[in-house]
Amino acid sequence: MIIGVPREIKNNENRVGLTPAGVHELVKRGHEVLIETHSGAASGFRNDDYEEAGAKIILTGDEVWGRADMIVKVKEPEEREYKLARKDQLIFCFFHFSSHRKLTYAMMDSGAVCLAYETVECTDKSLPILVPMSEVAGRMAIQQGARYLEKPVMGRGVLLGGVPGVTPGKVLIIGAGVVGVQAAKMASGLGAHVTIVDTNIERLRYVNDILPPHVVTMFSSEYNIRKLITNHDLIVGAVLVPGAKCPTVVTRDMLKLMRPGTVIVDVSVDQGGCIETCKPTTHENPTYIVDGILHYCVTNMPGAVPYTSTIALTNSTFPYILQLADKGWKKACLDNYELLKGLNIINGEVVYREVAATFDLHY
Ligand code: NAD
Repeated sequence: MIIGVPREIKNNENRVGLTPAGVHELVKRGHEVLIETHSGAASGFRNDDYEEAGAKIILTGDEVWGRADMIVKVKEPEEREYKLARKDQLIFCFFHFSSHRKLTYAMMDSGAVCLAYETVECTDKSLPILVPMSEVAGRMAIQQGARYLEKPVMGRGVLLGGVPGVTPGKVLIIGAGVVGVQAAKMASGLGAHVTIVDTNIERLRYVNDILPPHVVTMFSSEYNIRKLITNHDLIVGAVLVPGAKCPTVVTRDMLKLMRPGTVIVDVSVDQGGCIETCKPTTHENPTYIVDGILHYCVTNMPGAVPYTSTIALTNSTFPYILQLADKGWKKACLDNYELLKGLNIINGEVVYREVAATFDLHY
């Protein structure tokens, strides 16, 4: 099979779909791999590294799209790539179709087969390709939050870890899933006071078992949230309700209860956000202020740390890429339930229930 990796063209997206190690394995099994020139540069992989591993370096994305049987990339195709997708071509990447009407119709029109990273699902309902990106975003949430708490960038001027004789900063984490636990781990490691809330008591039990005793768990109720936000310096939104719009946990009127300079990092922004005043931002312009409260709502946080994120992502995607390359998408999906769940569009038909429901399409 010919596998093509185009350079990512989304704003500040620095990850790449395949590492030289992945190329090496695919080529060893008799596949041909085309890499658009400098695709891996921002993730620390040079053209030479890919060539040494057996890839062919291609000068334009158009040629990669034109020759490949399977396209492997990170983010969904951008508008100028829509016309490059073609009938029967397999495209394996993040799509998030439900929030992209234009993309959905463009991919249906192309006749391509779209397998979405975000819906590849294990039998226990976990999402193996989302997990590593949530791990990155959860850890980054504290790094970014700590930075924006600094006074010159309009934060409260609080050092999260405190110093001897001064109380540490207080971090509230809403949602104790993958993002929430990683954020709690980072914040508690810095010495901050951490409170983590969830509606799932089992998750709180788990957090209580694995994190240090100074991480406090509480049930996520409106009553508790209203009390907690009055004295926390950094609030991290990390909520997900699978298959549904993200619930609003912090309403606009609650901002008045917070102290000026409080920082909100709403990681769940990519699903609509759990803070009512959250709206998507980019790495170029990551923050804005509402009622004296600083909001950081970047939708592709892992894109800022491509050295880490590319390897974390491809560790998860590569076993699937290998199956798709070796068997072709039909057999690979029939043999593996996880991949089957990833199928969203096949030759013009939406085959993923939630996407079809979003756009009122036949399913
Ligand atoms: P997860 O499923 O592991 O955890 C979500 C948690 O939210 C669950 O424990 C659930 O019980 C909890 N929850 C649901 N309703 C709640 C409520 N009302 N109050 C408190 N908790 C509630 O999901 P995850 O992998 O941790 O992802 C969290 C969010 O982060 C998702 O929306 C995901 O898309 C997003 N994300 C964003 C980025 C980014 O770059 N911005 C990167 C990765 C993940």
